[in-house]
Amino acid sequence: PVPPDAPWLKGLNPEQFQAVTTTEGPVLVLSGAGTGKTKVLTSRLAHILASNLAQPWQCLAVTFTNRAAREMKERVAQLVGPVSDGIWLGTFHSLCLRILRSHAEAVGLSGDFTVLDADDQMRVLKQVMAEAHVDPKATPPQGLMATIQRWKDRAVTPEKAAADGGAEGQAKALYRAYQERLKSLNACDFGDLLLHVLTVFLSDAEALARWQGRFRYLLVDEYQDTNVAQYLWLRLLAQTHRNICCVGDDDQSIYSWRGAEVGNILRFEKDFPGARVVRLESNYRSTPHILAAASALIANNEGRLGKTLRPGIPHEPESIEKIRTKAVWDGVAEARMVVEEIETLQRRGEKLSSMAILVRAGFQTREFEERLITTGIAYRVIGGPRFYERLEIRDAMAYLRLVVSAADGLAFERIVNTPKRGLGEAAIQTIHMAARAEQVPLLEAARRLTGTDELKPKPRQALAKFIEDLDRWRSLLDSMPHAELAATILDESGYVEMWKADKSPDAPGRVENLKELVAALEEYDSLASFLEHVALVMENDSRAEADSVVIMTLHGAKGLEFDSVFLPGWEEEVFPHSRALAESGTKGLEEERRLAYVGLTRARKRVLVSFAANRRIYNQWKSQLPSRFVDELPDSHVERSGERGLHGSGLEESRAAWNDPAWSRARFGQPRQAAAPTSWGQAKPRESSSTFKTGQRVFHDKFGNGTVIALDGNKLEIAFDKAGIKKVLDSFVSAV
Ligand code: ATP
Ligand code: MG
Repeated sequence: PVPPDAPWLKGLNPEQFQAVTTTEGPVLVLSGAGTGKTKVLTSRLAHILASNLAQPWQCLAVTFTNRAAREMKERVAQLVGPVSDGIWLGTFHSLCLRILRSHAEAVGLSGDFTVLDADDQMRVLKQVMAEAHVDPKATPPQGLMATIQRWKDRAVTPEKAAADGGAEGQAKALYRAYQERLKSLNACDFGDLLLHVLTVFLSDAEALARWQGRFRYLLVDEYQDTNVAQYLWLRLLAQTHRNICCVGDDDQSIYSWRGAEVGNILRFEKDFPGARVVRLESNYRSTPHILAAASALIANNEGRLGKTLRPGIPHEPESIEKIRTKAVWDGVAEARMVVEEIETLQRRGEKLSSMAILVRAGFQTREFEERLITTGIAYRVIGGPRFYERLEIRDAMAYLRLVVSAADGLAFERIVNTPKRGLGEAAIQTIHMAARAEQVPLLEAARRLTGTDELKPKPRQALAKFIEDLDRWRSLLDSMPHAELAATILDESGYVEMWKADKSPDAPGRVENLKELVAALEEYDSLASFLEHVALVMENDSRAEADSVVIMTLHGAKGLEFDSVFLPGWEEEVFPHSRALAESGTKGLEEERRLAYVGLTRARKRVLVSFAANRRIYNQWKSQLPSRFVDELPDSHVERSGERGLHGSGLEESRAAWNDPAWSRARFGQPRQAAAPTSWGQAKPRESSSTFKTGQRVFHDKFGNGTVIALDGNKLEIAFDKAGIKKVLDSFVSAV
């Protein structure tokens, strides 16, 4: 018998206690964010081990990321010591890999099989297609790969796919051929890890019985994001002991695009009759304002299971801050504002690592990275490379470098055959040899080669065309605005097109990053000065520092928590994302809203939501509308601030946006309140319009320095030194 004051049970509320100590039989914990679901799993593992209900290797716990697995292991170790080392704890993939190693022969592999990365997978698939004489133009391999992955997510083997009937005959045949090729290479892809283990389980009753007998306790975190194959795997493994505990939140289901089935939650009680369903309602993470706002937002979704969330810890009323929303002029102003807030918090003694900037899409990190670097604040981009280190950005930069500097050999090498121009290894080797022999840069060597017969006609023509393109782009350097030139280069080279045609899930994000790169260029005088800037930025590497601001996507932030959370870019088409809005029906939109709910509920103490009036998207300014999610946040828990200036030229456009209710709310929600005691990080109280006088010198975010010539309520007429006379809002102006 375990004393109820055992360290791993201490502090649990009655429902949590029940979920932890009901070790026998199926348990489903269904509850909102921050209610201690993950904590329940950790305590449960500790409880099972400390009560000697099972050996560590008889416990199997599934987490969503390797990082989460590491954290869980550490926590259990804190509670019960190093026995926790032996627990089978990891992601579905890592656990399946471990199991598959001892059954490789059963699926036609040998024990030392390799797991292919995405590049290798694609190469194998293309070979298979070529051998089957399938035209990659008619059947894009990326699309086929996505189809195969969807089959694997649903545990559909080639045999089953073939038996299903229906269309897609060619895809099914290629799926089979691809799987056979992988076997002959003694390799498998990520999706196979699960699929193969399922195949073993279903074909080898003895093996299945062994694994079923071994795992006495199964624990699953983030259950709402499991796909069909994962669910089948769990159901099989749990059959003997039936001690399975799944925890999840249907409102946080954000991976349906990867095959996740929120329906798995509903099936649980059917497949495990007698399952105990525990609902946790106390949230121990966030302040009441954050909770109330998040709950109100998610209430706009239909078809929810419905849950109650209430604050589980006392909060000092005077320390509770409302959620803040802030309208800003553009992305640069947004980054400046957020980084100022970060600095203020830091001055107040908050740790940088307790702050996170959570973005909807990868391209949004750039502006924040730039500003953080400029101000010398350490940051980490989690879940992906930093902006200028991303593959597509490096490629694009190589184009720009080569246009600016014809002698840049590394840039030449990087892109001479990207996208594919039919320049194979042999041709490239020839260019290298010529460069060495003639002691000239690669590009010059290539140019000389095009006038010879050293290369075969096809590569020679391709090379000549490439050099001709480069020459043309270079000739435009002085006449064409540099951002426009960059856009032209990326278009005419076929580079953007290459990613647009790519059907892999990360391709649309890469296209967005390329657009963001062009937008970034606008902030510099020339291509050369931009390239210089990037070289310096990349040298200034702050990743090593432990105390650093976290930047990541909302998807990646699942399960994590931070004191302060910044949620930028809450604008229609950015968030909710345009792809979700383009879908018919509300499924896409509802998933975006769940993502917003995940974002808000990451915060312990404070949330700052921001949205810009203007975004530069691929060389063009676009007026933005605030996200509908901004409007869905309830007024009683939100403090709205920031105002929208009148756009210099697109007055009509901005007037339409101006009349938008969310904007009015943003403008009038908290009229002229100097930093209220509950607001945080407000660098300096906003001056009210009355503090400006005619004749005063002022600075404006977009138009620069100028002199006030007239006052009109909260508007100022200013003669700007460079931009001429403009009417602007006083809140975009500061005294100098
Ligand atoms: P999410 O849905 O975001 O994954 P969750 O339900 O898994 O959230 P946890 O991360 O386990 O929630 O817990 C949220 C926070 O609340 C953690 O900091 C955790 O330590 C704390 N917490 C959970 N239960 C209690 C409790 N009974 N007493 C005090 N703090 C608790
Ligand atoms: Mg959790």
